[in-house]
Amino acid sequence: MSALISVRNLTRVFDVSKPWLNRVIERLPVALLTAVSDVSFDIEEKTVYALVGESGSGKSTIGKIVVGLVPPSEGAVEISGVDLATERDDAKVDAVRSDIQMIFQDPYASLNPRWRVRDVIAEPVAARGGDTTGLAERLLEQVGLSAADASKYPHEFSGGQRQRICIARALASGPKIIVCDEPTSALDVSVQSQVLNLMSDLREDLGLTYLFISHDLTVVQHMADRIGVLYLGRLVEEAPRDALFESPKHPYTRMLFDAAPRMDAFGREVDPPKGEIPDAINPPTGCAFHPRCPLAVDRCSQERPEMRVIGETRVACHLAE
Ligand code: SF4
Ligand code: MG
Repeated sequence: MSALISVRNLTRVFDVSKPWLNRVIERLPVALLTAVSDVSFDIEEKTVYALVGESGSGKSTIGKIVVGLVPPSEGAVEISGVDLATERDDAKVDAVRSDIQMIFQDPYASLNPRWRVRDVIAEPVAARGGDTTGLAERLLEQVGLSAADASKYPHEFSGGQRQRICIARALASGPKIIVCDEPTSALDVSVQSQVLNLMSDLREDLGLTYLFISHDLTVVQHMADRIGVLYLGRLVEEAPRDALFESPKHPYTRMLFDAAPRMDAFGREVDPPKGEIPDAINPPTGCAFHPRCPLAVDRCSQERPEMRVIGETRVACHLAE
């Protein structure tokens, strides 16, 4: 089976020095932030691939590169064999762009408050001159709202309902792929699972492929077929869901599991200490995780670990076995 999405040696560097200062102080050193560093993975059609990591791990940047909002510095993303960053054939680029949509974390910010829900949902199709008759009403029912909601405004809905509207809008153009960037983390816990269940059902019904971005392994547990764990812009472990949950091989993946909320004997939540996330402008040498790693040996601060294959897992750690 060839991959629907193929991410190859992806690197993205941002210049984060202040442009106004550059004019004042001539030789201000350029500050470069490597948000994504040499990341490779494949996503098979009709599967869910989750990228998991803390804030600053590069997961949102990868999502934006995949949908073509941000160009890579090095490497490539191919979707159905087309590289959006370099493809010169406009027809091919258009076809891929209409196959891929993105859902963001904040449903409040991503809906135009002055538009009726009907127009919000139909906009991606209207913009291409497509037929929008009954489209919003049909999609609203598909995401668990009612056709009558089409004439309301976004402020009349709860957070969970607004994310359903965002999902309906993402579905309007009949995409194959949806990149979901923390789609439930702004929602109440009680609503999160409802939205996740909806996304699972839609995936099955419509044969969708998801790139699902999250900081929370437990959120992706029921959704993902494969999981990639990112640390400071690098993929440190990748495995099928069950393999990752049953035998996580990278010390950072284990730390993420330990950081999941747990209760102590008195029913209080225990929040284990995790250490600071290092500066991505001056990342640690060798294995970027070494300052926080409980297993680190001398070699870890000097040599960057290569990705190795162990069973069904790919892992970048000198000590993994
Ligand atoms: Fe820890 Fe070393 Fe493995 Fe990095 S390479 S995760 S520092 S043991
Ligand atoms: Mg993010």
